[in-house]
Amino acid sequence: TAAMAKSKFEYVRQFEVDNPCLPNCWLVVRIDGKAFHKFSEKHNYIKPNDERGLGLMTCAAQRVVNEFNEIVLAYGQSDEYSFVFHKNCQVYNRRASKIMTNVVSLFSSSFTMYWPRYFNTQELLYPPSFDGRVVLYPTDENLRDYLSWRQADCHINNLYNTCFWKLVQEKGLTPAQSQERLKGTLSSDKNELLFSEFKTNYNNLPELYRKGTVIIRLQDSKILAQNNREDENSKTPPVKWKSSSMVFHTDIIGKSFWEEHHYILNK
Ligand code: ATP
Ligand code: ATP
Ligand code: MG
Ligand code: MG
Ligand code: MG
Ligand code: MG
Repeated sequence: TAAMAKSKFEYVRQFEVDNPCLPNCWLVVRIDGKAFHKFSEKHNYIKPNDERGLGLMTCAAQRVVNEFNEIVLAYGQSDEYSFVFHKNCQVYNRRASKIMTNVVSLFSSSFTMYWPRYFNTQELLYPPSFDGRVVLYPTDENLRDYLSWRQADCHINNLYNTCFWKLVQEKGLTPAQSQERLKGTLSSDKNELLFSEFKTNYNNLPELYRKGTVIIRLQDSKILAQNNREDENSKTPPVKWKSSSMVFHTDIIGKSFWEEHHYILNK
């Protein structure tokens, strides 16, 4: 209020430092569950991939995507989600802490609020929390490499976890024995192990597990059409993203996803 603004205490505001994100850079907020190794055990997650847990993560992420209309894409796996804000976004004047804390707290509260929808009678035993960070990427290539890095991580972890839990659940190994059995193995060894000992072709496992989850904002066809007519000197206002989203479990490392959805990076 005006009265407060004039108080003699007002000077302490100068101690608050701004932390603006550089202009013209892709802005990524990644959130990650705190101690979800333990959280997933305590809440009886089915190992290695609990679909309720993955579904709830995506539900909370969609809530975030719908709230911030400058998010163009989100990618999630395990207990993490990355939110990509358009490189020209102006949300909160690109103040890093303001953006990051709002994303992570909305994600956390959504995860908690929608818990019963996914876990039914499994009680939420304590309030889950997530960390958050902001990373800026100056080029499209950097951004795509970032997303490729997360998807490669999803694949590497999932291959390992699939082997680990098969050895425990189907061969009766202890976690320590299972870990020992997998020590030093290459991807090809793990694929072979799954095939020869468990008659499992890794590539036939659900893409949800192997590829993670991509959320993109849908553009309505009218805006898209108008967008296509625009030329460089056009005075038409910038594209407004429509607040409905679409979920994929697909490869984003190769170029075909990006060709099919070229507008993600182009506008
Ligand atoms: P911003 O997102 O910028 O913080 P805001 O609407 O939260 O916007 P604040 O300056 O933080 O704005 O003010 C919080 C407002 O929330 C108060 O002005 C008041 O209207 C309301 N509010 C918060 N706590 C209470 C409360 N316990 N009882 C009644 N009103 C409250
Ligand atoms: P930190 O606080 O450092 O992030 P963490 O225990 O959360 O510690 P992560 O590397 O983030 O460690 O790993 C998350 C862990 O959560 C996974 O290793 C896995 O055990 C568990 N987890 C997350 N989601 C699921 C799921 N849908 N199904 C089964 N397990 C899951
Ligand atoms: Mg971690
Ligand atoms: Mg974690
Ligand atoms: Mg994690
Ligand atoms: Mg407030």
